[in-house]
Amino acid sequence: MSGSLSEGPSLNPAQQQVLDELGTLDRPSFRADLRADLRHDLEEALRPIVAEADEANRPLFVSKRQLGMLHGCEARYVADKEEEFEWSVASARGSVAHKAIELSVAYRGNPTPLDLVEGAMARIEADEKGLSSFIQSLDEVERAELSGRANDFVTTFTETFPPLSRKWVPVAESSVRALLCGDDLTLMGRVDLSLGRTRGQEAGKVLIDLKTGQPSHAHLEDLRFYALLETLKVGVPPRLLVNYYLDAGSPRNEIVTEDMLWSAARRVVDAVTKLVALDPPEPRDPVRTPGQNCRWCPISDSCRPGLQFLEGSDQDDWRPA
Ligand code: SF4
Repeated sequence: MSGSLSEGPSLNPAQQQVLDELGTLDRPSFRADLRADLRHDLEEALRPIVAEADEANRPLFVSKRQLGMLHGCEARYVADKEEEFEWSVASARGSVAHKAIELSVAYRGNPTPLDLVEGAMARIEADEKGLSSFIQSLDEVERAELSGRANDFVTTFTETFPPLSRKWVPVAESSVRALLCGDDLTLMGRVDLSLGRTRGQEAGKVLIDLKTGQPSHAHLEDLRFYALLETLKVGVPPRLLVNYYLDAGSPRNEIVTEDMLWSAARRVVDAVTKLVALDPPEPRDPVRTPGQNCRWCPISDSCRPGLQFLEGSDQDDWRPA
């Protein structure tokens, strides 16, 4: 994002607040050898751990979701791995909405959020992979429900976020990967929205995750992981990480520092250590760590610590993110 952020159409107070918070001209510079140092130390720490993984389990893949689970409750991670992922209207809503936001950048005329959502669903259906077959399988009522829920997401975004200008180089659902240890380990993520670009060693990108529900510390860790992947890929970290809470129309920002990236790297090493220890053929017993995630755990009905936690907390205080 650049100084041109201050230009553009008149904005409502919520949009102006986002623009003010994200549009700073500060562009910190990072040392040129940071990428090589991060990669070197990560590989030094990870190589012996990855070598312990059973050959049948290699290459290892670690996503943001796995990383979060491994640092949350190991038993939930193991249970979730055994469940086959199935798309639902709730899980598809975010992907449709992100595609609609991506289309909003290049869409001609003055499309409504519903125009964008319908365009996004048509594009995803035509892709013929992943989510496509789920959308094709929906009946009219289910399709209308998905469209309505994505429309709610996109409408809130357009009401509270400044219109995306091409000058900000917006990219939605941008995938980022790091191949480590001779390709035996892949770290991967998908950023909801990125704005801006680097200039030489100057940081310029803003990475944004779009959220509903309550802010949580895990959301910060997710973006720090993305900042690490971006640094390993491009060589220059992003300058700002933003969790954008749609319900409140407000961004929670964090400036990227070198210390943050080293901390994210240590968190990756800890997670891969757990992942290898929990993998077959001789997995150790997973630790059960009850917390808010018990609400979405596939084995919560049969987990004593989880049941005790859920009985002792107010279920109405929380809703899914
Ligand atoms: S119910 Fe809670 S403690 Fe039990 S496995 Fe699931 S997340 Fe872990």
